[in-house]
Amino acid sequence: MSDKVHKPATRVVEAGRKKAWTSVPGNKGGVVSPPVWRASTHLYEDCEDLAAGRPNEDGHFYYGRRGGPTQWALADALTALETGADGTELFPSGVAAIACTLMAVLRPGDELLVTDNAYEPTRSIALSMLRQFGITAKPFDPLEPDGLASAITDTTRAVMLESPGSLTMEVCDIPALCDVARERGILSIIDNTWATALGFAALQHGCDISVMSLTKHVGGHSDVMMGSASAAKPVINRIRRQAQFMGQVVSPDDAALALRGLRSMQVRLERSTKTALELATWLETRAEVSAVLCPMLPGAPGHDLWRRDFKGGCGLFSIVLADGFDSAARARMIDALDLFGIGFSWGGFESLAIPFDPAPVHTLRPWPPGIDTGSGLGVRLSIGLEDAEDLIGDLAQGLDAMGAK
Ligand SMILES: *Cc1c(COP(=O)(O)O)cnc(C)c1O
Repeated sequence: MSDKVHKPATRVVEAGRKKAWTSVPGNKGGVVSPPVWRASTHLYEDCEDLAAGRPNEDGHFYYGRRGGPTQWALADALTALETGADGTELFPSGVAAIACTLMAVLRPGDELLVTDNAYEPTRSIALSMLRQFGITAKPFDPLEPDGLASAITDTTRAVMLESPGSLTMEVCDIPALCDVARERGILSIIDNTWATALGFAALQHGCDISVMSLTKHVGGHSDVMMGSASAAKPVINRIRRQAQFMGQVVSPDDAALALRGLRSMQVRLERSTKTALELATWLETRAEVSAVLCPMLPGAPGHDLWRRDFKGGCGLFSIVLADGFDSAARARMIDALDLFGIGFSWGGFESLAIPFDPAPVHTLRPWPPGIDTGSGLGVRLSIGLEDAEDLIGDLAQGLDAMGAK
């Protein structure tokens, strides 16, 4: 095989497919995807083998808590897709990945800076959970050019980033923020769930750690929960050690589902991006909508940075309802939708809608600047793989159900 760097659609198909995980020694041929290796006990050849131990890295039988070929194949594939990473740790959820990663890199007395547009549980982990361990956290405004630099203190050790931001979708200048952090010897962690490694090469843009909720795009079918953290050495070794201390392990059944989802992720992302853009373009023309927060949409907040730094988008974006509507009208709209389910999460094959109000969770700046925030009532849409025209028809009857302002 040549060492040519293939395009993303090829890499997502090829990544992590080691023969050792898909074949039986001594037999010719093999299978495409690794079987589900269910195991707690791993067996050793003899006492000498047991005494010799095994290297503490993926790809070596040791004990069930360190995973087996099914989990290794998924972790290996994610590492291969994240250019610059030397390894990936898997976690039973995205939140577990975020919590454990932060605990791996922070110590009592340290301070964490967390982007004001962070996913709400990330904010709670930072501001509440870490406090138990003597770690303080402070939100900063990621859109303020000087926001990060002026928030850094002598005890700041890490910065938690997210772009686009949860709910309000602001795109941040990640390379510039990471430069500020690096100059001060501070680690940059990004929650890259929205773009995945296919849409945003986090480590290449200056981040030290890329965390994802695999529950969303990688799983892709709303039937599995998982998280990951990818980084170069020595940082990934610290995360691995912390994950082992905390007994983090994912089941091989779930790993097989996530790996199956991963193989079609590029196609699903392309399709949902295209549909989302059609819907966003249409929503912009509607009087009931005062702002469309979709970074892929020309003219939308963050579009220029998105074009500069990202290779792709996804189906998740938000709208703000125009002035004059109240939350009862918003509920009428969402309840009237037939094709959009009402539920947390996103990134599945099916469309979802959820109401949101950013003020309680984004305290420094609730909305991106320069937009008409109208009623201040948000609706987040996750666009699935349905037909775009059908989805537009559904949204039209949802908006009609709101009635006159
Ligand atoms: C859903 C989500 C998470 C958490 O993932 P779980 O797998 O649900 O624990 C983290 N970050 C973002 C941006 C999310 O949307």
